[in-house]
Amino acid sequence: MKARVLGSAAGGGFPQWNCACPNCIGARTGGLPVRARTQASLAVGAGSGRWYLVNATPDIGAHLNALAGGGTEVRRSPVAAVLLTDAELDHASGLLQMREGTPLAVYATEAILAAAAPLLDILAAYKPVERVALAPGSDTPLDASLTCRALATGSLKRPRYAAGLPPDPAGVVGYRFTDADSGRSLVYMPCVPALTEPLVAELKTADCAFVDGTCFTDDEMAIVGLAGKTSRSMGHAPVTGEGGTLPVLAGLPTPRRVYTHLNNTNPLLVEDSAARAQVEAAGIEVAYDGMEVEPG
Ligand SMILES: [Zn+2]
Ligand SMILES: [Zn+2]
Repeated sequence: MKARVLGSAAGGGFPQWNCACPNCIGARTGGLPVRARTQASLAVGAGSGRWYLVNATPDIGAHLNALAGGGTEVRRSPVAAVLLTDAELDHASGLLQMREGTPLAVYATEAILAAAAPLLDILAAYKPVERVALAPGSDTPLDASLTCRALATGSLKRPRYAAGLPPDPAGVVGYRFTDADSGRSLVYMPCVPALTEPLVAELKTADCAFVDGTCFTDDEMAIVGLAGKTSRSMGHAPVTGEGGTLPVLAGLPTPRRVYTHLNNTNPLLVEDSAARAQVEAAGIEVAYDGMEVEPG
């Protein structure tokens, strides 16, 4: 199994077009040691050259170009299917840019498929869309050796465009991919309100774990003048502080632990920051666009 980080930023990317926080200014001017990042998406493959895409972001054009590979057909897609962690626009609206080409399978829980229905219905007017409902906690085969398991995060958050739907604890999920050939597994969890025991159990037994690193502290957006928004209010456990994920991740035996889905205000983006040093000292990496992992 191979995985490639196509994007590693939270919604809006980094730098974000309408943001003048110190990080975004530093990214634009080159005044800070930071890398630009597109919105978070992961490609997972068993080595067949076809990829399972976790989330289809507004940056999907660049992501698909990064994956376009071999093949002799005039029209071909490097994407075997898209899996959605939720129906937020930064995770699902890229589906609309996939209207060209061959039929597309979209895997998600019933709750996510219901929330994303407006997007999926538009796409289905252009090409066949197969909606594959995943039962949380059970493995579904993707190809010859790869399976996926949706991990309900318990978050009751719904996208604003689907606010009328009932809250559902499987409306925001992570995924566990397992390669039957190698027995190795990878967990991808970009949106987690809290690292609960069941989620920690999934992380603990994975060979590689990508975890929500949206905000370093709960109030970092308020500090840069974006009052009223906290990490937790957006459904993301912060890295540090009360309910922080860092002490939990630091204690796990998981060989590779990686923070992803970084908001543009996050000091982890700055490569020489104290925050970055603290996380790396705990053996945890910070994802970047183009990062590749091969859990086996
Ligand atoms: Zn997001
Ligand atoms: Zn910013």
